[in-house]
Amino acid sequence: MTKRIRYHFMGIVQGVGFRPFVFRTALQCGLTGFVQNTIDGVIAEVQGSDSALKEFFLYINNNAPPLSEITGQACSEINTLDESDFKILESRSRGDLDAYSPPDSATCENCLQELFDPNDRRFRYPFINCTNCGPRLTIVNELPYDRDRTAMACFPLCPTCKKEYNTPSDRRFHAEPNACPVCGPRVRLIDASGNECLFDDPVEEAIHTLKQGLIIAIKGLGGFHLAVDAGNDAAVQRLRERKCREEKPLAIMVRNLNTAREIVETGIQEERLLASPQRPIVLLTKKNTGFISEFIAPHMNRLGVMLAYTPLQHLLLENDFTALVMTSANRTDEPICTGNREAVKRLQGIADFFLVHNRDILVRCDDSIAMVASGKPRLMRRARGFVPCPIMLTQHHPSVLALGPHLKSAVCIIKDNQAFLSPHIGDMETPQARDFFHENIKLLKKITDCSPGIVACDLHPGYYSTSVANSMQDVTVVRIQHHHAHIASCMAENGIKGKVIGLAMDGTGFGADGTIWGGEFLIADEVDFIRAGHIRQFKLPGSEAAIREPWRIGAGLLRDSYGDEWQTIATRLPLALHSQDYAVVEKMLTANINSPVCSSLGRLFDGVAAIIGIRAKVNFEGQAAMELEAVADSSDVSALPFKIDDYENTLSLNYIPSIKELTTQRLKGAPPPALAASFHAMLICSFIEMTVRIRSASGLNRVVLSGGCFQNRLLLEGCIEGLMKADFNVYSHHLVPTNDGGISLGQALVAASHFPFQ
Ligand SMILES: [Zn+2]
Ligand SMILES: [Zn+2]
Ligand SMILES: [Zn+2]
Repeated sequence: MTKRIRYHFMGIVQGVGFRPFVFRTALQCGLTGFVQNTIDGVIAEVQGSDSALKEFFLYINNNAPPLSEITGQACSEINTLDESDFKILESRSRGDLDAYSPPDSATCENCLQELFDPNDRRFRYPFINCTNCGPRLTIVNELPYDRDRTAMACFPLCPTCKKEYNTPSDRRFHAEPNACPVCGPRVRLIDASGNECLFDDPVEEAIHTLKQGLIIAIKGLGGFHLAVDAGNDAAVQRLRERKCREEKPLAIMVRNLNTAREIVETGIQEERLLASPQRPIVLLTKKNTGFISEFIAPHMNRLGVMLAYTPLQHLLLENDFTALVMTSANRTDEPICTGNREAVKRLQGIADFFLVHNRDILVRCDDSIAMVASGKPRLMRRARGFVPCPIMLTQHHPSVLALGPHLKSAVCIIKDNQAFLSPHIGDMETPQARDFFHENIKLLKKITDCSPGIVACDLHPGYYSTSVANSMQDVTVVRIQHHHAHIASCMAENGIKGKVIGLAMDGTGFGADGTIWGGEFLIADEVDFIRAGHIRQFKLPGSEAAIREPWRIGAGLLRDSYGDEWQTIATRLPLALHSQDYAVVEKMLTANINSPVCSSLGRLFDGVAAIIGIRAKVNFEGQAAMELEAVADSSDVSALPFKIDDYENTLSLNYIPSIKELTTQRLKGAPPPALAASFHAMLICSFIEMTVRIRSASGLNRVVLSGGCFQNRLLLEGCIEGLMKADFNVYSHHLVPTNDGGISLGQALVAASHFPFQ
């Protein structure tokens, strides 16, 4: 008997080859009907026998295209029609269509085979792509996503490409960036002064140049990379000198999983993440094989590795290098370069050559960074490959624009039940970064086709984003406390509502009482919060200087622990500085000059790293804490002692007993790895005990973990395991970063929740 079923597929189903997939499946199963993009997904009506319909349903759900994600589907039986074929109906125009562009995707296996097949017409063509792979968001000019509105508009399709584009059974059907050597973009090699170097094969010449140890700026999907041979110490050091980047780790790129396995430890989850179409940089434990220069990630036990994701990168890595350093092409605090001329100008004095092409990058988008912890992938920077996929929310909200924090910034728009985050913007310290911030607000408004009347920003009065919010006309501004936003962002991505215990373990954020917060135990929901506890406050002697020089924080902690004797003890520690330095700190702390108080876990890490003798000064924010994690030898340690103080129902985690014990053991010659591990163990034990005390008083059993310190895998895994053992329901980040890169999602959710639909 013939039946007709109407399916409604929701999720990421537009611009990812979903319609041709449905079309091919329907033909395979011998069904008639149609498929069409609509306002909130894809509609398919299919007609045929019971068994054919069943086969269709199973195939669709088990073999959906790699870039698609069906988050919901509905079906109903409707009246049969008199028809004889299956059609792809045209999308309707914008206005009644949520046709945002899909994210960029790594070159697929089929395209790779063609790339290296001498008989293929796209043999060694650096812009090969298909319906399942290639650039997407980064070539979008206007929406909906359609070739005429992308950077490909200036490359008219040749007859062969056009045929592929128009043939539903072809794997390049409606592949908007489709191109070939006849009709598509081309690469060029240009020198440091911007003059073209004429070679038959610019890619071969670039490889030759890299082998000589020179630095090449290479145009990628969302911006330029600076590349050098990762096995060449001198080249890596030259790159560091020229980029003024002393020690911050550099990412490397390898051709495939096999090479990655030679350099770093990988598990199933890590490999899945590395080889995913999003191709993030994945942080992985180094192997000591000698393939990779030690200057790439000094003092770190982990290495940021990604697999090649564009055809051009595959060509560069094909034969000649184990790995290339591929670091974002920018100067400190500036966004990544995208334009050819812009790159030559901004990278003057850094790059020796430029490998460019004539397909414009229209949306700036850095590489994403991820790690695996507690068996799950976690994003630390959300950009290429993930943007603009929305985070699905549990309910519909009024539209909100959230401007994010000041460092590791990203902005967010909530529309209906979806939250769209911009690519990672970075630290908003330079005019270029601030321009990029405004670029991203425009991008999100374009993607969501809305201009929200509610604007959320941080509580900090001095942030650039706060001043932008205050200067906006005709909007309601809602200011959200930094750590409340952290917790709300984790609630949003986990789809939970109502009161929770939130552990916001972080660098620094402006507290509701005007002091610096950063080690917070909140009782929070999506509207409001109270501070149930925090890490014992301490002073930052010299304020900003203390962030660059953790020894100052260490000195302050010793003073809190030992009173008048502290200077004598400090000079006996292995990292002893000049006693006049300590005298200056003593003066500052006694007179309370430029020494703000904070409860920040990030800064406590810094101070402890200094006391143990790991680092007195840092080259980048978080370096001391990262090295403390890197040295920690987690095997069989006992936690350092601590106390929990109670001040009028606000708990204070008192780590002074830990500082004393650490110092005593260090003076006796205990090695840093054991001490670092005992400190981590103390944090985990004390967090669990604090949370248990808050549960006893509040009856709450759900714990939400957020804040930059949970990028520390030892801490995150220890807390998840310990809290679960204590029967808590534990929620942590996996879709947005736990660091400040995820804050705007929380800001948006809290602001939206202040204005519930009536
Ligand atoms: Zn492909
Ligand atoms: Zn062509
Ligand atoms: Zn934060």
